Amino acid sequence: SDHALQYPATPAAIDWTDHYPAFAASGKVPEFADVGCGFGGLLISLAPLFPDTLMIGMEIRVQVSQYVQDRIAALRVTTLPDDAVLRPFQNVSIVRANAMKFLPNYFAKHSLSALFFLFPDPHFKSRKHKARIISPTLLAEYAYVLKPGGIIYTITDVKDLHDWMRTHLTAFPLFEPVDEDSLRAEGKGPIIDAVYTSTEEGKKVERNGGEKWLACFRRVPAH
Ligand code: SAM
Repeated sequence: SDHALQYPATPAAIDWTDHYPAFAASGKVPEFADVGCGFGGLLISLAPLFPDTLMIGMEIRVQVSQYVQDRIAALRVTTLPDDAVLRPFQNVSIVRANAMKFLPNYFAKHSLSALFFLFPDPHFKSRKHKARIISPTLLAEYAYVLKPGGIIYTITDVKDLHDWMRTHLTAFPLFEPVDEDSLRAEGKGPIIDAVYTSTEEGKKVERNGGEKWLACFRRVPAH
């Protein structure tokens, strides 16, 4: 349960400089959010590819979020070659949070350019479907925090969950499906590759020879 957690009242109440001290003077806020980030594999792959973009993982499990925090801290102090100009991993951080309840407490309207839902918990039983991270009520929140043109990336090895996410996102007026080839043509290939292969759950699916179902959506302009 999350009742013991302290949540920011509004995004403006968050001091992101605690998370990204190297960017303190920049006024930047996170642009990529990995919802249910688990052990952090996606953000740790993406951080060096987009060194000027702030990224945040949200994870509800205490030990897992602590592990990711320690992992990032260790990566930040890794010894660098003498000619390195930018210290790596300054642009990645994590919060322990229930993303299903408190996403708008963290992100201002139209502030994110990417939202990731990678191998979310499937909640197989139909009476548990309301616990799924993609649901009609939550889609309005995702549309609110995403910039017009921003992308939702989903991937799962559970075909039924893939169909569910695709059906609900396609039906929602503020999202339109966008195929993998179009995203690659826009230069988002490295992101797609990381979505497929960089997370701990994705690697487990690979080891077990499972299939992976990708579905991506663009936040439409206006509204
Ligand atoms: N995305 C990671 C990956 O691909 O390796 C982790 C996938 S794991 C199956 C799902 C993760 O979502 C778990 O770490 C779980 O604790 C987290 N999670 C579930 N519900 C959540 C919520 N409401 N808010 C934040 N994290 C949540």
